[in-house]
Amino acid sequence: MSTQTANAAASKHESMFDAVLARLDVAANLMNLSEDVKTVLKNPIKQVKVSLPVMMDNGKIQVYEGYRVVHSMAIGPSKGGIRYAMDVNQDEVMALAAWMSFKCAVANLPYGGAKGGIKCDPRAMSVGELERLSRAYAKSMKDVFGVNRDIPAPDMGTSGREMAWILDEFNKVTGEDSPGVITGKPIAIGGSLGRDAATGRGVMVNTLAALKKMGLDPKKVSAVVQGFGNVGSHAARLLSEQGIKIVGIGDHTASFYNENGIDIKAALEFAAKNKNTLKGFTGATEIPSNQLLISKCDVLVPAALQNVINVDNASKIQAKLIVEGANGPTMPDADAILNEKKIICVPDILANSGGVTVSYFEWVQNKAGYYWTEDEVNTKHDHKMEIAFESVWNNAERFKTSMRIAAYITALQKIEQAVKLKGAY
Ligand code: GLU
Repeated sequence: MSTQTANAAASKHESMFDAVLARLDVAANLMNLSEDVKTVLKNPIKQVKVSLPVMMDNGKIQVYEGYRVVHSMAIGPSKGGIRYAMDVNQDEVMALAAWMSFKCAVANLPYGGAKGGIKCDPRAMSVGELERLSRAYAKSMKDVFGVNRDIPAPDMGTSGREMAWILDEFNKVTGEDSPGVITGKPIAIGGSLGRDAATGRGVMVNTLAALKKMGLDPKKVSAVVQGFGNVGSHAARLLSEQGIKIVGIGDHTASFYNENGIDIKAALEFAAKNKNTLKGFTGATEIPSNQLLISKCDVLVPAALQNVINVDNASKIQAKLIVEGANGPTMPDADAILNEKKIICVPDILANSGGVTVSYFEWVQNKAGYYWTEDEVNTKHDHKMEIAFESVWNNAERFKTSMRIAAYITALQKIEQAVKLKGAY
């Protein structure tokens, strides 16, 4: 399903931000969250919308919509990525910003949450156009971003390349060199070793932790990974390195299944030579894209788009365990079906928090001006992830609820303390 179709399906039911609030309400009731704190968290603290005029290669000006929403700064400066996609809108950015607040709290990071985005189709733009757009966005956000204020990072449609342009523009406008104002940077300009693979690594650590609780041997389970971008490709590689048989992969160009297991190294090499896409890969049988999520496997990793698991396909899912690499891949109506089927779902705000965890390490290294080895980064990451998994698992048992609601509870317990300690006017 295309993003547009998925989002149309979502909007039939509710806005994405409403979906966040609905889950917040369930968690808040179970844990007895104070009404005051709930009210605070239902209202993002800052919403910025800008118009970005960009000179296109054809000599004409095109104006793009840019957004940044800061949801909470209760625990610390706000943190969250910037996405470039055609369906970016205020409601989506609000939802994603709130998820960042919860994600950072679950992972025990000293951050609040934010998200940004530009409504554009990066695949249809030249490198020069993308650079001018990124610089225009950075300039217009100069009073929003700050190393101790709001720290962006990559998200869908962006990477280290865009982070480098945004950092450079921010530095030029402020006249200071602040590498820590943005994370997910290339290594040569202050990025952290291990950041690129971190979200996929977090997916792997969470998968292993969940399999252990379920009494399953990773060497005897199979997995399907949807998405072969930064998250999905690293997740597939790291899961296969743990002995998990990857039977299905797919991206926006094609999906594949092979019950005997797919050679992920070969798929990575193929994608690297094929504009980072899978169309034409011959190591497995091509299947219709809507079959991938419902094909036979033990572990399903949706690592592409939001709203892909919905009432239409949830009842057909065969996996015992879902580990959400993407943000918001499961719609609220589908949650109930998965729970009924006793499928364990490690939710996005836990499962994909490896990325922001290593973003935090990057920020710490930038502040200290002292850089760690990849092993140090990975060891610290795995340790933090295991602690986060354990606290969510324990809350699921204590409150007799799903991992998703337990993750919200885990986050809300920490944010509630911070909001109460800091107080209001
Ligand atoms: N965009 C990523 C996320 O959704 C990373 C955010 C960050 O590193 O700040 O978690």
